[in-house]
Amino acid sequence: MKTHNIRRLCIVLGDQLNFDSALFDEFDPKQDAIWMAELAEEQRHVKSHKQRIVLFLSAMRHFAEQCHEYGFCLHYLKLGKHQFQNFEQALSDFLAQHRVESVEVVVPGDYRVLQQIKSACENQGQVLKVQADRHFISLPGEFKNWMTARKQPRMEYWYRHLRQRTGVLMKNAKPVGGKWNFDASNREAFDSTGPQSIVAPLRFEPDAVTRQVMDWVVENYTDHPGKLESFGWPVTRTQALQALGDFINNRLENFGRYQDAMWPNQIWLFHSLVSSSLNLKLLNPQEVIEAAEQAYQQNKAPIESVEGFIRQILGWREYVRGLYWHYMPDWKTWNALQAEQPLPKFYWNGETDMVCLRDSLQQVLRYGYGHHIQRLMVTGLFALLWQVRPKDVHEWYLAMYVDAVEWVELPNVLGMSQFADGGLMASKPYIASGQYIDKMSGYCQHCRFKPKLAVGDEACPFTTLYWDFISSHYARFTGHPRLGMQVRHWNNMSDEKQKSIKHKAKQLRIDFC
Ligand code: FAD
Ligand code: SF4
Repeated sequence: MKTHNIRRLCIVLGDQLNFDSALFDEFDPKQDAIWMAELAEEQRHVKSHKQRIVLFLSAMRHFAEQCHEYGFCLHYLKLGKHQFQNFEQALSDFLAQHRVESVEVVVPGDYRVLQQIKSACENQGQVLKVQADRHFISLPGEFKNWMTARKQPRMEYWYRHLRQRTGVLMKNAKPVGGKWNFDASNREAFDSTGPQSIVAPLRFEPDAVTRQVMDWVVENYTDHPGKLESFGWPVTRTQALQALGDFINNRLENFGRYQDAMWPNQIWLFHSLVSSSLNLKLLNPQEVIEAAEQAYQQNKAPIESVEGFIRQILGWREYVRGLYWHYMPDWKTWNALQAEQPLPKFYWNGETDMVCLRDSLQQVLRYGYGHHIQRLMVTGLFALLWQVRPKDVHEWYLAMYVDAVEWVELPNVLGMSQFADGGLMASKPYIASGQYIDKMSGYCQHCRFKPKLAVGDEACPFTTLYWDFISSHYARFTGHPRLGMQVRHWNNMSDEKQKSIKHKAKQLRIDFC
């Protein structure tokens, strides 16, 4: 016997914590209800970092508190208080017991979750209305239309399209600063003394709600990676806005210059740390972009920093979302380079002699964070050169970073980082030897390996594996306009040198297993 008449059942997912969502447009607390659920599968389908679990659950519970304050009718399933594993089970059960006129959800950030919600509604004979996600700057269908006109999507053109359409950093139909892109000014490294006078970012002391979740996670997720002691991520919109203000005032100025730089034990450098708040929708990308643009107008930050930062959000973030939905569910099946190695065990504990990897991995274990170049050119690069199965790499990234939601994680990992899409997202694989890491960081000074060496006891594993990668994929990249030179370099090496590199690579594979 079904109880209760609900006009609209609005499903709010853990990464949809925004009251300006389409679900709330005509929300009538007398007739409509919100449905939220904490589900074990969301933390366990990949073995989530403890901080990622705490962040999502705490932010959801804070959002639920606000729903109560607004007098909204909320059905909230708390972990430990129900037996359902996933959305399909939990929602089916709810619909079986309640009379609901229409079920509504904003497009989820994970294809799997959308399938589960659809399936629950189908099983219960319930019509599901999937609302467009107005958190994003791209309009519904805009990416699809843009794609129809091109053979090969490229972020730069999508970014220019969005700048023209929105007027962001535009004056009289021309890009502010005279060019679209200040990328060339975004690649500076620190000198040998390293970064100076960085203001430590604002972190947030866990409140009672967060502490309760932390206790629950400690008790129930002992086998999951990561540490909780340093948890300080924003869990409410108020905190997220404070963190944004802190970045704009203290770090944006130098963001552009040092965007690609790395330094040992320097976790945050000049990065914004807004990704988790954006992805939970505690922040809106439009307001983040406006804050940066305003800093430029007020001479608080130079154009190369402001453009560089806006490009990440208006360009990359919107682009990867477009690509995710355009190509799902195919993304997960791609393995263009036929990489079949398992992920080395040290990804889960940070125990390796390679200082760049150790520092980046231990940082992820401690904070659930790594900045872009650490993700792309240290952890991602090693996995690519090691030829790890893309699925393993994807699952590791989805589990380990507090900002990981599949729509943004998957194209970045499989496309940009692992070239599993065969060049759909990036025109060439992001490969480099240890010498790139040496140029952009202070890691190699403290490492027992030498970035220039590909053979011998002190050979840098990145450098050995870099040449081994070129040799393994020789046929694919020999005529490549941007990799041809590296292939020729390999060709010009003596047989003897090539043999010793291949031998060293083989030896590494035995040593690291
Ligand atoms: P900042 O360096 O301050 O950049 C500002 C903002 O720009 C970020 O907060 C983010 O919202 C956006 N941004 C920057 N680069 C990208 C990008 N390539 N794609 C989408 N948005 C971008 N980002 C995630 O949000 N979640 C992920 O799970 C994720 N996984 C990644 C995996 C790999 C292998 C790589 C190479 C990148 C990944 N990124 C991911 C993109 C990027 O590394 C992070 O957004 C960024 O490091 C977050 O830190 P921040 O907020 O300090 O970023
Ligand atoms: Fe990393 Fe190689 Fe440099 Fe060591 S020498 S820190 S392994 S790049």
